[in-house]
Amino acid sequence: MSIEVLSVKDLSFRYNSTEVLSGVSFSLKSGDYLAIVGPNGSGKTTLIKTVLGFFEPSAGSVSLFGSSPSRFNNWEKIGYLPQKLASLNPNFPATVKEIVALGLLSKKGFPKKISLSDQEAIDYALSLMDIIHIKDEFIGELSGGQQQRALIAKALVSEPELLILDEPTTALDPEGRERFFETLQILNNQKNLTIIIITHDIGTIGRYASRLLYLDKKVIFYGGFDDFCISKEMTDYFGEFSQHIICHRHDYGHA
Ligand code: ADP
Repeated sequence: MSIEVLSVKDLSFRYNSTEVLSGVSFSLKSGDYLAIVGPNGSGKTTLIKTVLGFFEPSAGSVSLFGSSPSRFNNWEKIGYLPQKLASLNPNFPATVKEIVALGLLSKKGFPKKISLSDQEAIDYALSLMDIIHIKDEFIGELSGGQQQRALIAKALVSEPELLILDEPTTALDPEGRERFFETLQILNNQKNLTIIIITHDIGTIGRYASRLLYLDKKVIFYGGFDDFCISKEMTDYFGEFSQHIICHRHDYGHA
Protein backbone atom coordinates (compact mmCIF):
# COMPACT_ATOMS: atom_id res chain seq x y z
CA MET A 1 0.00 0.00 0.00
CA SER A 2 1.29 3.45 -0.88
CA ILE A 3 1.39 5.94 1.95
CA GLU A 4 1.78 9.68 1.62
CA VAL A 5 5.37 10.65 2.35
CA LEU A 6 5.34 14.34 1.53
CA SER A 7 2.73 16.93 0.76
CA VAL A 8 3.59 20.52 -0.11
CA LYS A 9 0.65 22.90 -0.44
CA ASP A 10 0.76 26.36 -1.93
CA LEU A 11 4.20 26.98 -0.48
CA SER A 12 5.86 30.37 -0.78
CA PHE A 13 9.16 31.51 0.64
CA ARG A 14 11.00 34.82 0.65
CA TYR A 15 14.51 35.82 1.61
CA ASN A 16 13.89 39.28 3.07
CA SER A 17 11.68 40.89 0.45
CA THR A 18 12.61 38.66 -2.51
CA GLU A 19 10.14 35.93 -3.27
CA VAL A 20 12.07 32.77 -4.18
CA LEU A 21 9.22 30.24 -4.15
CA SER A 22 5.67 31.02 -5.10
CA GLY A 23 2.61 28.79 -4.67
CA VAL A 24 4.46 25.46 -4.97
CA SER A 25 2.31 22.34 -4.56
CA PHE A 26 3.11 18.66 -5.06
CA SER A 27 2.87 15.42 -3.15
CA LEU A 28 4.72 12.12 -3.07
CA LYS A 29 3.76 8.61 -2.09
CA SER A 30 6.09 5.88 -0.91
CA GLY A 31 8.14 4.51 -3.80
CA ASP A 32 7.90 7.68 -5.90
CA TYR A 33 11.15 8.84 -7.49
CA LEU A 34 11.09 12.58 -8.13
CA ALA A 35 13.61 14.63 -10.09
CA ILE A 36 13.61 18.36 -9.31
CA VAL A 37 15.02 20.28 -12.26
CA GLY A 38 15.29 23.98 -13.07
CA PRO A 39 17.76 26.78 -13.85
CA ASN A 40 20.31 28.00 -11.30
CA GLY A 41 18.63 30.16 -8.69
CA SER A 42 15.18 28.73 -9.40
CA GLY A 43 14.61 27.80 -5.74
CA LYS A 44 15.37 24.04 -5.77
CA THR A 45 17.65 24.01 -2.72
CA THR A 46 15.40 26.47 -0.89
CA LEU A 47 12.43 24.17 -1.53
CA ILE A 48 14.26 21.17 -0.05
CA LYS A 49 15.44 23.17 2.96
CA THR A 50 11.89 24.37 3.59
CA VAL A 51 10.59 20.80 3.30
CA LEU A 52 13.20 19.75 5.90
CA GLY A 53 12.19 22.55 8.25
CA PHE A 54 15.42 24.61 8.00
CA PHE A 55 13.30 27.52 6.74
CA GLU A 56 9.77 28.58 7.71
CA PRO A 57 7.48 29.08 4.71
CA SER A 58 6.07 32.58 4.29
CA ALA A 59 2.82 30.96 3.15
CA GLY A 60 1.48 27.46 2.62
CA SER A 61 2.34 24.23 4.36
CA VAL A 62 4.53 21.12 4.34
CA SER A 63 3.54 17.73 5.67
CA LEU A 64 6.30 15.14 6.14
CA PHE A 65 4.99 11.66 6.92
CA GLY A 66 1.83 13.38 8.16
CA SER A 67 3.38 16.06 10.39
CA SER A 68 4.74 19.54 9.94
CA PRO A 69 8.58 19.66 9.85
CA SER A 70 8.66 21.52 13.19
CA ARG A 71 6.77 18.68 14.91
CA PHE A 72 8.37 15.83 13.00
CA ASN A 73 10.52 13.60 15.20
CA ASN A 74 11.40 10.60 13.06
CA TRP A 75 14.44 12.05 11.33
CA GLU A 76 16.00 8.60 10.93
CA LYS A 77 13.34 8.02 8.26
CA ILE A 78 15.05 10.65 6.11
CA GLY A 79 18.49 10.55 4.53
CA TYR A 80 19.69 13.93 3.29
CA LEU A 81 22.73 14.78 1.22
CA PRO A 82 23.27 18.56 1.00
CA GLN A 83 24.79 20.24 -2.01
CA LYS A 84 28.49 20.46 -2.91
CA LEU A 85 30.13 18.60 -0.05
CA ALA A 86 29.09 21.60 2.05
CA SER A 87 28.85 19.44 5.14
CA LEU A 88 32.39 18.16 4.89
CA ASN A 89 35.43 19.84 6.37
CA PRO A 90 38.34 18.13 4.57
CA ASN A 91 40.54 18.57 7.64
CA PHE A 92 38.11 16.71 9.87
CA PRO A 93 40.24 13.81 11.11
CA ALA A 94 37.78 11.01 10.43
CA THR A 95 37.90 7.85 8.38
CA VAL A 96 35.31 6.97 5.73
CA LYS A 97 33.79 4.42 8.12
CA GLU A 98 33.46 7.01 10.88
CA ILE A 99 31.78 9.53 8.56
CA VAL A 100 29.25 6.90 7.51
CA ALA A 101 28.66 5.97 11.19
CA LEU A 102 27.62 9.58 11.85
CA GLY A 103 24.54 8.84 9.74
CA LEU A 104 23.35 6.45 12.45
CA LEU A 105 23.73 8.83 15.36
CA SER A 106 20.45 10.70 14.86
CA LYS A 107 18.73 7.39 15.71
CA LYS A 108 20.51 6.92 18.98
CA GLY A 109 20.24 8.27 22.45
CA PHE A 110 23.26 8.30 24.74
CA PRO A 111 25.55 6.46 24.99
CA LYS A 112 26.19 6.50 21.26
CA LYS A 113 27.75 3.09 20.97
CA ILE A 114 28.17 1.31 17.64
CA SER A 115 26.62 -2.16 17.91
CA LEU A 116 27.31 -5.21 15.77
CA SER A 117 24.16 -4.55 13.71
CA ASP A 118 25.27 -0.91 13.23
CA GLN A 119 28.58 -2.27 11.97
CA GLU A 120 26.73 -4.43 9.45
CA ALA A 121 24.60 -1.48 8.31
CA ILE A 122 27.77 0.59 7.84
CA ASP A 123 29.44 -2.16 5.80
CA TYR A 124 26.29 -2.54 3.68
CA ALA A 125 26.15 1.21 2.92
CA LEU A 126 29.89 1.22 2.14
CA SER A 127 29.54 -1.68 -0.27
CA LEU A 128 26.48 -0.14 -1.96
CA MET A 129 28.64 2.87 -2.77
CA ASP A 130 31.68 0.75 -3.75
CA ILE A 131 33.93 2.21 -1.06
CA ILE A 132 34.30 -0.63 1.42
CA HIS A 133 37.94 -1.07 0.37
CA ILE A 134 38.76 2.45 1.55
CA LYS A 135 36.75 2.43 4.77
CA ASP A 136 39.80 3.02 7.00
CA GLU A 137 41.21 5.88 4.94
CA PHE A 138 40.96 9.49 6.07
CA ILE A 139 38.21 11.35 4.28
CA GLY A 140 40.38 14.42 3.62
CA GLU A 141 42.86 12.33 1.63
CA LEU A 142 40.35 11.05 -0.90
CA SER A 143 39.23 12.34 -4.30
CA GLY A 144 36.09 14.47 -4.56
CA GLY A 145 34.19 11.54 -6.08
CA GLN A 146 35.16 9.21 -3.22
CA GLN A 147 34.22 11.84 -0.62
CA GLN A 148 30.86 12.23 -2.32
CA ARG A 149 30.29 8.46 -2.21
CA ALA A 150 31.10 8.46 1.52
CA LEU A 151 28.50 11.18 2.13
CA ILE A 152 25.93 9.31 0.06
CA ALA A 153 26.67 6.18 2.15
CA LYS A 154 26.17 8.30 5.28
CA ALA A 155 22.74 9.38 3.96
CA LEU A 156 21.82 5.73 3.26
CA VAL A 157 23.14 4.02 6.38
CA SER A 158 20.06 4.45 8.56
CA GLU A 159 18.00 2.75 5.81
CA PRO A 160 15.80 5.81 5.36
CA GLU A 161 12.32 5.67 3.82
CA LEU A 162 12.87 9.01 2.07
CA LEU A 163 16.20 9.93 0.51
CA ILE A 164 16.78 13.58 -0.49
CA LEU A 165 19.82 14.33 -2.62
CA ASP A 166 20.87 17.82 -3.70
CA GLU A 167 23.03 17.48 -6.82
CA PRO A 168 24.70 14.25 -5.66
CA THR A 169 26.62 13.47 -8.83
CA THR A 170 28.65 16.64 -9.37
CA ALA A 171 31.95 15.07 -8.22
CA LEU A 172 31.41 11.71 -9.91
CA ASP A 173 32.87 10.76 -13.28
CA PRO A 174 30.40 9.62 -15.99
CA GLU A 175 30.85 5.94 -15.16
CA GLY A 176 30.45 6.57 -11.41
CA ARG A 177 27.37 8.65 -12.16
CA GLU A 178 25.75 5.84 -14.13
CA ARG A 179 26.54 3.29 -11.40
CA PHE A 180 25.17 5.66 -8.78
CA PHE A 181 21.87 6.10 -10.65
CA GLU A 182 21.64 2.31 -11.04
CA THR A 183 22.17 1.80 -7.29
CA LEU A 184 19.41 4.31 -6.53
CA GLN A 185 17.15 2.52 -8.99
CA ILE A 186 17.69 -0.78 -7.20
CA LEU A 187 16.91 0.79 -3.79
CA ASN A 188 13.81 2.42 -5.28
CA ASN A 189 12.59 -0.85 -6.83
CA GLN A 190 13.58 -3.35 -4.18
CA LYS A 191 13.11 -1.37 -0.96
CA ASN A 192 10.39 0.98 -2.16
CA LEU A 193 12.68 3.86 -1.15
CA THR A 194 11.14 7.25 -1.95
CA ILE A 195 13.69 9.46 -3.66
CA ILE A 196 13.90 13.20 -4.32
CA ILE A 197 16.89 14.24 -6.38
CA ILE A 198 17.86 17.74 -7.46
CA THR A 199 19.89 17.29 -10.60
CA HIS A 200 21.35 18.94 -13.67
CA ASP A 201 21.67 15.53 -15.34
CA ILE A 202 18.52 16.23 -17.29
CA GLY A 203 19.43 13.97 -20.22
CA THR A 204 19.93 11.01 -17.87
CA ILE A 205 17.50 11.28 -15.01
CA GLY A 206 14.41 10.56 -17.10
CA ARG A 207 15.63 6.99 -17.51
CA TYR A 208 15.32 6.50 -13.77
CA ALA A 209 12.94 8.95 -12.07
CA SER A 210 9.20 8.47 -12.46
CA ARG A 211 8.15 12.04 -11.69
CA LEU A 212 9.43 15.44 -12.71
CA LEU A 213 9.10 18.78 -10.94
CA TYR A 214 10.33 21.59 -13.16
CA LEU A 215 10.76 24.61 -10.96
CA ASP A 216 11.36 28.23 -11.84
CA LYS A 217 10.29 29.92 -8.60
CA LYS A 218 6.88 28.42 -9.32
CA VAL A 219 5.98 25.00 -10.65
CA ILE A 220 6.30 24.96 -14.43
CA PHE A 221 5.53 21.25 -14.59
CA TYR A 222 4.76 18.57 -12.07
CA GLY A 223 3.79 15.06 -13.07
CA GLY A 224 4.99 11.84 -14.65
CA PHE A 225 7.96 11.97 -17.03
CA ASP A 226 5.83 10.39 -19.73
CA ASP A 227 3.22 13.11 -19.38
CA PHE A 228 5.93 15.77 -19.60
CA CYS A 229 7.24 14.26 -22.82
CA ILE A 230 3.88 14.29 -24.58
CA SER A 231 2.73 17.64 -23.23
CA LYS A 232 2.08 20.15 -25.97
CA GLU A 233 2.10 22.90 -23.38
CA MET A 234 5.65 21.90 -22.37
CA THR A 235 6.73 21.82 -26.03
CA ASP A 236 5.48 25.39 -26.30
CA TYR A 237 7.24 26.37 -23.08
CA PHE A 238 10.64 24.72 -23.68
CA GLY A 239 10.75 24.28 -27.43
CA GLU A 240 11.01 20.84 -28.98
CA PHE A 241 14.77 20.64 -28.61
CA SER A 242 14.90 21.17 -24.84
CA GLN A 243 11.94 18.93 -24.26
CA HIS A 244 13.66 16.29 -26.35
CA ILE A 245 16.84 16.50 -24.24
CA ILE A 246 14.85 15.91 -21.06
CA CYS A 247 13.03 13.04 -22.77
CA HIS A 248 16.16 11.68 -24.43
CA ARG A 249 15.91 8.47 -22.41
CA HIS A 250 13.68 7.07 -25.16
CA ASP A 251 16.76 6.74 -27.33
CA TYR A 252 18.43 4.50 -24.76
CA GLY A 253 15.51 2.22 -24.01
CA HIS A 254 15.33 0.17 -20.81
CA ALA A 255 16.96 -3.03 -22.05
P1 ADP B 1 18.75 26.65 -6.88
O1 ADP B 1 18.95 25.56 -5.86
O2 ADP B 1 17.63 26.36 -7.84
O3 ADP B 1 20.01 27.03 -7.61
P2 ADP B 1 18.41 28.37 -4.55
O4 ADP B 1 17.27 27.81 -3.77
O5 ADP B 1 19.79 28.06 -4.05
O6 ADP B 1 18.25 27.94 -6.09
O7 ADP B 1 18.27 29.94 -4.63
C1 ADP B 1 17.07 30.58 -5.04
C2 ADP B 1 17.24 32.09 -4.97
O8 ADP B 1 17.38 32.48 -3.60
C3 ADP B 1 18.47 32.61 -5.69
O9 ADP B 1 18.11 33.81 -6.32
C4 ADP B 1 19.46 32.85 -4.59
O10 ADP B 1 20.32 33.91 -4.91
C5 ADP B 1 18.56 33.23 -3.42
N1 ADP B 1 19.16 32.81 -2.12
C6 ADP B 1 19.61 31.57 -1.80
N2 ADP B 1 20.07 31.54 -0.52
C7 ADP B 1 19.89 32.79 -0.02
C8 ADP B 1 20.13 33.42 1.25
N3 ADP B 1 20.67 32.72 2.27
N4 ADP B 1 19.82 34.74 1.38
C9 ADP B 1 19.27 35.44 0.36
N5 ADP B 1 19.00 34.90 -0.87
C10 ADP B 1 19.31 33.62 -1.06
